[in-house]
Amino acid sequence: MIHFVGAGPGAPDLITLRGKALLEQADIVIYAGSLVNPVLLGFCRDTCRIYNSAHMHLQETLQVMYAADEEGLDLVRLHTGDPSLYGAVQEQADALRERGIAFDMTPGVSSLFAAAAALEREYTLPGISQTLIITRVEGRTPVPEREQLTDLARHGASMVLFLSAGLTDRVQEALLQGAYRKDTPAAIVYKASWPEERILHCRLGNLHQTALDHQIRSTALLLVGDFLADRPAYENSRLYDPHFTTSYREARDS
Ligand code: SAH
Repeated sequence: MIHFVGAGPGAPDLITLRGKALLEQADIVIYAGSLVNPVLLGFCRDTCRIYNSAHMHLQETLQVMYAADEEGLDLVRLHTGDPSLYGAVQEQADALRERGIAFDMTPGVSSLFAAAAALEREYTLPGISQTLIITRVEGRTPVPEREQLTDLARHGASMVLFLSAGLTDRVQEALLQGAYRKDTPAAIVYKASWPEERILHCRLGNLHQTALDHQIRSTALLLVGDFLADRPAYENSRLYDPHFTTSYREARDS
């Protein structure tokens, strides 16, 4: 059986219990060596065969999976964060499906959540933004025309950008054409949850300079929005408001 597993953002205790159990029983592991913390491989048995997909192309990865399936072995394909975000997981899953090979998927803690935790922040503050835009600038992978950053920027929503740490000049310029301002709070979170994690607070107007000054070009998320303000002027949630009745609790006067 083939298991696609989210490794989490880096810290080895941020993999799920299910993901850890799958690693512990795996005969073969293919891990995304560019971003998965190799400490996680310590959960594997001594006899486990380990491949680093950073040195493999898609067909090579698939060949290892096909062979594992034929031998009836358990293979874990370990992806960074959650596999469903920029994970290139679907092309593998579809190839397996085409051959009738059984697989399952185990979610992981995305780096976007590890970054919010590192910043001790909430993306969705009532009165500030109830939407999180997860996107990237165009690199080698094209971004559809209707999703260009300048268009997404019209909403002024909380935003997190993957795979864009080396392109902060373009991010800054595009977002300033929308509803964000030069003084909109921003942050760069490098290697969230790793020992070498770094958090850089800035404003959108000096996002690019901040990345340059600290020589951050990869393995970082860019976060932008008023949810990052020192004291965001949000409203408290209705859910915990004593004057509102919910399905679990009656409203009270005080
Ligand atoms: N599936 C992953 C994302 C893979 S794309 C997830 O859910 O997190 C790779 C990009 O993710 C990197 O370029 C970087 O932008 C971001 N990334 C991955 N791990 C990170 C971490 N620990 N800290 C900050 N950014 C990270």
